This record gives sequence, C-alpha cells and structure tokens, in this order.
Amino acid sequence: MWIEEYIDKLAYNLERYKAGKPIEEIKREIFENKKVKIIKLASNENLNGLNKEIIERLKKDIKYVYYYPDDSMYYLLESLIQFYGVRRENIVVGNGAVELIRYIYHVLIKKGDVIFTPHPTFAIYYIDSNLFGANHLRYDLSPPNYEITSSDILRGLESLQKQGYKVKMVVICSPNNPTGSIITNTDLLEVLDYTLKNRIVVLLDEAYFEFVDHQDYHDGVRLLDKYENLIVLRTFSKVFSLAGLRVGVAFSNPYIIRALNNIRLPFNVNYLAQRAVIYSIENYNKILRSVKKIIKEKYYIYARLREMGIEFIPTFANFIAIKVDDHIRVYNDLLRKGIIVRPASDMNMGAYIRVTISPRRKENDVFLRSLYEVLCARSSSG
Ligand code: PMP
Repeated sequence: MWIEEYIDKLAYNLERYKAGKPIEEIKREIFENKKVKIIKLASNENLNGLNKEIIERLKKDIKYVYYYPDDSMYYLLESLIQFYGVRRENIVVGNGAVELIRYIYHVLIKKGDVIFTPHPTFAIYYIDSNLFGANHLRYDLSPPNYEITSSDILRGLESLQKQGYKVKMVVICSPNNPTGSIITNTDLLEVLDYTLKNRIVVLLDEAYFEFVDHQDYHDGVRLLDKYENLIVLRTFSKVFSLAGLRVGVAFSNPYIIRALNNIRLPFNVNYLAQRAVIYSIENYNKILRSVKKIIKEKYYIYARLREMGIEFIPTFANFIAIKVDDHIRVYNDLLRKGIIVRPASDMNMGAYIRVTISPRRKENDVFLRSLYEVLCARSSSG
C-alpha cells in the first residue's frame, strides 16, 4: 500500500521487545478463563508486593488523578535527591528505565556510532541500537559463570581501536540480564579509568542493585563525581515492587542530564507513580527485608537444582538462568502447568530459561517440582 512508503523503514521493520506473558493472557489462552492459580516468574519483579500502608495511601491519592501530574516532579525529586545523596542536576526520572535508555540513545547516538555491549544482555540495548542505526558490537560473556570482566572489555576496546573503530558508548549491565552475573567494583574502576581517558561513555545499568550479595560490588551513584563519562541507571520496578507504575532513574553529569530532561515527554511519570515512589522510599528498610528472603530462596533453589542435576548460572539478581536443552518446549510445558517463565532466547541466549526467584518458598517449590516433572516427562518420551 502507498502509505508504506511514507513510513520510516527502520520503525516499520524494528523487532519489538518481547515481554513476559501477563497472567491474564495465560488464563485466557490456556485455561479458558477457568479459576486457576498462575505463578508468574517471568519479569523479575519483587513478588513481595506493596505493603498495606502504601496501598492505603495510594487509595487516597487516586481521587486526584483527574489533574495532570507535576511535570517538574518537585516532591518526587526532593525525595530521590535525599535518598540517593545526589544533586538536582545529576538526576532525571523516566517512565521506567527503558524510557531513559531510549532517551540516552536519542541524545548520544547518531547513525553509525559504535556501541559496545555485553552479549547476551537485556534486549532493549539491541533494539535501541537498531532504532538509532548504531554499529552494535559485543563482548561475549563466557560460561560457566558469564562474569563481566575488565580484561574482556578492555581487550575488546583496544582491539577495536586498532581496527580503526571509535567506540562512543560501552554498556555494562551488572547484574546482567539474563545471566545474573556482575562486574566487580575493582574491574569496573579499571574500565572507567580507561574509558574516561579515551572519551568513551559508560552506561552502567544497576537495575538489580539491591539483590547483589558480593563483597566487591559497585555503587555507580557514588562514582559520578570522579567519572564524568558515567551514566547510571536504577529502577523502581524490581526491589521496590512498582513495575506496574513505571519509574526509572538515570544519574549522570549535568550536561547529559539536561539533554535527557529537555527531550523528556511532558508528564512522563504519572501522579500515582510519583506518590508511590515517595512512600516506598520511606519504607525502604522494610523493602530490604524482602531482599533477605529472596537471597535465602536463591541458595535454596541452588541446592535443589544441584540435587536434581540441573545446571544453572550463579546469580546476583532476583532471577536465575537455568540450563534446559529444549528451552522453548520446557517453557511451553511449564505454561500448561500454570507457571510463566521466560525462554532466555528472548534475551539472545538459547538453551536456558530465566526464572524470577520468589520470596515465598511455596512458589519456588511449585516451580521446582513442575520443572522436574517437565524434564522427566521429556526424557521418558525420548
Ligand atoms: N535494565 C535491566 C537490566 C532490566 O532487566 C530491566 C527490566 N527488565 C530494565 C533495565 C528496565 O526496567 P524498567 O523499565 O521496568 O524500569
């Protein structure tokens, strides 16, 4: 049709982000809307959910949604600035970290610019590279632990430089999605020293920051003063249990933040989301208690998987990548048992499923038992 010629080819052909299946879709399509319990372990939310007090406060706020939200986000920013210990000119808030990633590409990446990302990693980094016509090059993470190391990144950068490439931005996703692996603080500092000297931007995605139990983990927000080439991402979708309200935060130097803020859509963070973040920050200590439960469950899941002889990647996030040969079939068989996980091929890694770790033993047990049944049924059917 003639109208196709009017449409931007890149946008028309762009591969869309594949999200985890919503519970309602599985109820409708597999269980014909019957009353069944579906367990969603597909999108790495903190399944602890919100506490009652926050819900009550939000119920009172809902009557004001006929007004536009505060576009300047005055009270939200007051709260965030204090919580993270940063200055106003170092922070911008988005409709989820994904919105901020898109804005970061928009203000930094021109057609042909070289971006260097881990592989595998969060799919948005590939999608936005395609959208902005970047030259997307990768450093491969290696089994068995898929750690991100300074030697892999620096060797890669030096070799690219020798080949005549000028890298503009390095992405470090730590913990990385879908592997759950991290870069240590020691290694990160080496990468930051090198990139600062060589005028390369580092985008450090710390979406799963609070779940990391490693003595040499980094805190990107504390590194901003020393490294003007650094952008740090955090989100309220994971540990704060606010995925449905969509709030992400980016920290960087005032120049990048100013550009991000200028292109930010008006009212990009809705009223309830702004309120919910303020309440959640007040409740942070309680939220951290749920992290302890999730970490405890992580070690329980490790032990059970080892007992069953199932391989997995050690993780520092609230999800775990589990090795299963026929991962699409395992994913579909689990769906039929009412359990939603993610085939890691959605994140460019085959032969694994990625599973959110619940803070509740019961849900993890249902998952582990179902996985065992699915794998046994497969091996007995040949
Ligand atoms: N970064 C990583 C590594 C993620 O896994 C996710 C969500 N899956 C995000 C960023 C985006 O988070 P949100 O848009 O919900 O803030």
